[in-house]
Amino acid sequence: MNTRSVSSSNTIESIVDQCVKCGLCLPHCPTYRLTGNEIESPRGRLELMRLATQQPSAALYAHDALEHCLACGQCERNCPINVPYLDALVASRQRARTKQRWPHRLLASPRLLTWLVAVAALLPLWLRRRLPLGRALTRRPLGPTRIARMAPQANTQSNIALLSGCTGHALDRAAIAAVIEIATALRHSITILPPQCCGSLHRHAGDLETATALQSAMRNTLEAAGDTTIVHLNSGCDQQVRMIAGIAKRPALTVLQWLTAQSASLRFRQSAERVALHHPCTSSQSERQAVERLLRMVPGLDIRILDQHAGCCGAAGDQFLRDTERADAFVTRWLAGYASSNASIILSSNIGCSLQLSNQDTISATIMHPVVFLASLMEPSA
Ligand code: SF4
Ligand code: SF4
Repeated sequence: MNTRSVSSSNTIESIVDQCVKCGLCLPHCPTYRLTGNEIESPRGRLELMRLATQQPSAALYAHDALEHCLACGQCERNCPINVPYLDALVASRQRARTKQRWPHRLLASPRLLTWLVAVAALLPLWLRRRLPLGRALTRRPLGPTRIARMAPQANTQSNIALLSGCTGHALDRAAIAAVIEIATALRHSITILPPQCCGSLHRHAGDLETATALQSAMRNTLEAAGDTTIVHLNSGCDQQVRMIAGIAKRPALTVLQWLTAQSASLRFRQSAERVALHHPCTSSQSERQAVERLLRMVPGLDIRILDQHAGCCGAAGDQFLRDTERADAFVTRWLAGYASSNASIILSSNIGCSLQLSNQDTISATIMHPVVFLASLMEPSA
């Protein structure tokens, strides 16, 4: 056993020791709810992690249960004594890790991802769906490509730098365009940072080496951005981006939190639409409140909030890219909520969730980032 595995086994043991086995996290765990199996629960996985550090043969037994964990963090958020489950998961996966998975390699190279998505878009749908990246090559565009034009202003109020993450340029340009339109209308100077991965997915997969390299590259980018507020698109990266921005000494907000801070300057046109709001399980409480508050500013808008207790839609981690059948098993509760909402638009601030939902045959609604919807209704004079 090398020094690294000794220290990770100590980390795992000390975390597992904190768990009092109360089981209060179990109803919040999507994999436990799906299977009803203790080893697919946070409590069961913690015991498996300990076992795997003590008996090498148990590592094989633990492998599938740990691989199936979505790293969604619902167990941590609902643990009364704050057991740091994800730290134990990362340490266990780091011990068991053999090679980097293809989605991780791709996300670590956002420019390559952008190029691949653009080339694949030229292919017929049947062929795109057979590609390994098929789930990311969604069948419907993520939001409208046309947004109401707004005149640029001369004197700007503040500087913001938009971080679109590893997927924004490849998969959600409508959201980038929407932020530019809104910032311009509100007279904020906006810089678009190059596509870059925060390393969150790599960290949760136990690939700390790549995660640290990506984190360091992003820190350099944020420091080079100068005296600016970092605004980022994807709620799923919020925790990691805030952590990196903190090291770079830059304030960071999700785009919806930033927009909420501008609410005194925002005016929206009337809308008779009915929208279904999907709160990604990775969304913080303040993110949820921000988007609900913004949508309530649209006169006449009918807002249906999809079942907040439905848990993960299957998009957490990379499972929805590499094991679509299993990922789709998680989406059922969301589909029931969507069907009863009768909404023509689904709003989600997580690109993974948007892709997962847009690949469901029973969903006919247009799916977009809330900022795209809000930009399309903004009064030009705001
Ligand atoms: S991170 Fe999510 S899937 Fe994994 S054990 Fe916790 S609640 Fe379950
Ligand atoms: S992780 Fe927390 S909530 Fe879950 S069984 Fe252990 S102590 Fe209870």
